[in-house]
Amino acid sequence: MKTDVLIIGKGISGILLSVLLKQKGINSILLDRGHKNTSPLSETIPPSTLTLLNQLDLLTVFEETSSKTYGYQSKWNSVKILDQGFFNYNPYKYGLKLNKQLLLKQLEKTASNNSITYDLIKEIDKKKETTFVTIENKTKTYEIESKIIIDATGRKRALLKQLGIPSIDYDDTFAFICYIPKNEMHLKYGFFTETFNNGWGTVSDLNETTRIITLYISKSNTNFNLFKAYKNWNKILSNTQILKNCLPNEGIFKVIGKKANSSKPLHIVGDNWLAIGDAAMAFDPISSHGISNTIFCCNKASIVIKKYIENKNSAILKENYEDVLFTIFKEYIKQKEKLYTQKVITI
Ligand SMILES: Cc1cc2nc3c(=O)[nH]c(=O)nc-3n(C[C@H](O)[C@H](O)[C@H](O)COP(=O)(O)OP(=O)(O)OC[C@H]3O[C@@H](n4cnc5c(N)ncnc54)[C@H](O)[C@@H]3O)c2cc1C
Repeated sequence: MKTDVLIIGKGISGILLSVLLKQKGINSILLDRGHKNTSPLSETIPPSTLTLLNQLDLLTVFEETSSKTYGYQSKWNSVKILDQGFFNYNPYKYGLKLNKQLLLKQLEKTASNNSITYDLIKEIDKKKETTFVTIENKTKTYEIESKIIIDATGRKRALLKQLGIPSIDYDDTFAFICYIPKNEMHLKYGFFTETFNNGWGTVSDLNETTRIITLYISKSNTNFNLFKAYKNWNKILSNTQILKNCLPNEGIFKVIGKKANSSKPLHIVGDNWLAIGDAAMAFDPISSHGISNTIFCCNKASIVIKKYIENKNSAILKENYEDVLFTIFKEYIKQKEKLYTQKVITI
């Protein structure tokens, strides 16, 4: 098979890039391992990202598969509940809480219709201007010739690992996620963030009946293992004001663990490859900017890929993509560190 762009990973970044490339008349093949993510995270995107979505003609599909959110409340190292309404943002006075499964299904309809489910990448043979990738699934072996290959495998960074590109971790934050029934505790905006002794947590209304509660802790914290079992959560959250009141009085619920740290690879572009989304830069969920980063990345990537295909000059990838994204990541790390070292506010 022959394609301009081979995209490995069919999460939001892989599908979105395929959509944006198609808009530019560039064909792509999406490679999927067929492992479906069955637990929705209900990611939130802030009002500032909606302007970019509008420019990319994607706002309608995002809005149709999301609910509007008008802000959040928090107790971040604070004795007071802080109110962050989105009402002063212009032109959008709301953010979006995504139904990602529905969003991906809708986006796929406008993405490349070339998609292959595979089990194993057998070989990557990089030549000067083209790459041959051999993949296998239970029934077939495919050899795909592509001008550029994309790592869109999130924090797994499958292609980068195969190419021997190391990653740099900036912290070891881990998320423990639990779906609980809604109780009588009402959240003004359906979202609350609160710090506690060993970490911090969020509670987010998913629908009429269910909430997601997520606790974040450093993997090196001596209490890390306690977070794995829901039966310990009442004790862990005993000093919180809001989070503890969201736990139902009865029941034991399943806890799912996920990496949630900040990290980036040493490089996100090479001669004829590029990384996007979390594979390029993974943000701590406190920033609420993982999806915004993905949208920004995919837009930038689609522009540089077009130029690269036209000019065959890989310097374009470094200057117009890697340098830009790494500048953003540096600023993000600075802001994140400021937030985590913030002392208790007593106003
Ligand atoms: C607990 C938590 C809460 C979050 N909350 C928010 C939020 O509120 N707002 C926000 O903006 N962001 C949030 N994020 C971040 C957001 O979820 C990510 O930034 C976003 O999903 C990244 O998309 P992606 O497509 O790059 O990676 P992923 O969503 O990880 O998708 C990668 C895809 O690649 C596939 N894959 C993996 N390995 C291979 C392989 N070897 N071959 C082929 N395919 C492979 C996977 O199955 C998956 O489909 C949160 C993240 C976490 C962990």
